[in-house]
Amino acid sequence: MIRTKYAIVGGGPAALYAAAAIRERDLAGRLVIIGAEGHPPYFRPLISYYLAGLVPRENLFMQDAEYYRQKKIEMIGGKVTEVRGQEKVLVYQPLGEGRGDDAGFTPDSSEKRTAQHLQFEKLLIASGGTPGKPDLPGIDTPGVYFLRTIEDAEKIAARAKGSQKALLWGGGLVSLKAAYALYRLGLEITLVIASDRILSQMLDRKGAEIVASYLAEKGLKMILQSDLQEVHGNSRGVTAVTLTGGRELKTDLIVIGKGVQPSVSFLEGSGIKEKGGVEVDERLQTNLPDIYAAGDVVLCRDLLQGIPVNNALWPNATAQGECAGANMTGERLTYRGSISMNAAEFFGLPVISAGLGRAQEGAGVDQDQPRKSDRVSSKEEIAPAPAAGVQPREIYKLQKPTPSRREPHYLRLVFEDECLVGYVAIGKNRKAGMLTNLITARFPLAPQQKERLISGDLAFPFSI
Ligand SMILES: Cc1cc2nc3c(=O)[nH]c(=O)nc-3n(C[C@H](O)[C@H](O)[C@H](O)COP(=O)(O)OP(=O)(O)OC[C@H]3O[C@@H](n4cnc5c(N)ncnc54)[C@H](O)[C@@H]3O)c2cc1C
Repeated sequence: MIRTKYAIVGGGPAALYAAAAIRERDLAGRLVIIGAEGHPPYFRPLISYYLAGLVPRENLFMQDAEYYRQKKIEMIGGKVTEVRGQEKVLVYQPLGEGRGDDAGFTPDSSEKRTAQHLQFEKLLIASGGTPGKPDLPGIDTPGVYFLRTIEDAEKIAARAKGSQKALLWGGGLVSLKAAYALYRLGLEITLVIASDRILSQMLDRKGAEIVASYLAEKGLKMILQSDLQEVHGNSRGVTAVTLTGGRELKTDLIVIGKGVQPSVSFLEGSGIKEKGGVEVDERLQTNLPDIYAAGDVVLCRDLLQGIPVNNALWPNATAQGECAGANMTGERLTYRGSISMNAAEFFGLPVISAGLGRAQEGAGVDQDQPRKSDRVSSKEEIAPAPAAGVQPREIYKLQKPTPSRREPHYLRLVFEDECLVGYVAIGKNRKAGMLTNLITARFPLAPQQKERLISGDLAFPFSI
């Protein structure tokens, strides 16, 4: 049995930031990361660019082999199948030979194919998320993929060669990133989206319309309020799908982008509390002493809503990893909480959403504010009075006219009383960082400051 001071389950960014924080404080205690992918931590958001051939494989990795040697971070390729929380033991299944040939990663030797035990003093659960697989006739036909790992990207790339049509099932961030990659590879793209808009977890209705018409101009087909009913195929793989309503679409490959759930199944019987995600306190410790959790696997306090949520995003994973790692060495750092925040480029169009940026029309007062002559507005109804317990929200939408061939420009600001609580920005916006800081600091704006923000003047300095 391996005995270690620090053990980390999962080899993603939360794990790496935790390991780095531990090593800043304790270079002597043994530190082992067990990861089921057999790779050292890599930039997961880059895999769609790797699929597109825009980023070489070696540039995906967050650190090189030398870093792990210097920091004495041991990495084992294995899938943790059980955690015995009280005994401080975990059980893992080694991946075996032939895996883990990337920089810094030690494949476990083949004679150890049977389950192995590891005794730890401090444990971090950083197992991330697993894509949801809808139950559907034909879903296991070759040619149906997720885009979550390096291997997924490689399998999709192989299938894309010689393919003409790709179907993206879902209209979220990962689907759009996959769509861009496959578009770059020359495929004809169709998105099938159950919701009535693309990026429904990120954008308000108006913002989604703007992005959708930009994508339509690039040649993407989007079928809204529709779902897959059946996948058809033959010995060479997927050939077509039937949509709800009976319509049939031909396709050569499918990428499923129907969301991600925290990877918690191996925690059953561990004594660690989870409600679809691991519950943690403000120090990121679970209900069991010396066992912490960080990243996409946790339910963490949302700064705006004040309740535990799963804000499964890269910056949250790294910040939580760093905090949990420090606390595993005996520090007492507090993790304030996170906000939902996303920044991405879709076909070259920058799109950012933060906090309650997509707060619904209907949750408070919703106004268009054409304060400047170059701004146009689309009329929407003033929402009904908010339900009990919901703060009145004012929503302002600023939109510049978009001459053809220029990227659209849209800014939606959501206020709760004197505080900015969310925004959506489409097109280049150099002040997005400042807006995000206003939200996370819950900075109370003086009336004239708020007035200037609403009028689209983001240039004045704030001292926070
Ligand atoms: C295509 C794509 C694009 C993205 N783009 C963005 C973006 O633009 N912005 C953004 O903020 N976020 C983005 N994300 C999300 C971001 O990558 C995640 O939030 C981040 O990787 C979470 O880090 P993590 O360390 O918590 O988990 P992960 O990165 O998921 O790593 C967890 C690791 O743990 C391993 N594991 C799971 N169970 C076990 C087990 N039982 N035993 C051992 N190992 C286990 C997994 O195999 C995995 O390697 C994107 C994700 C994808 C897939």
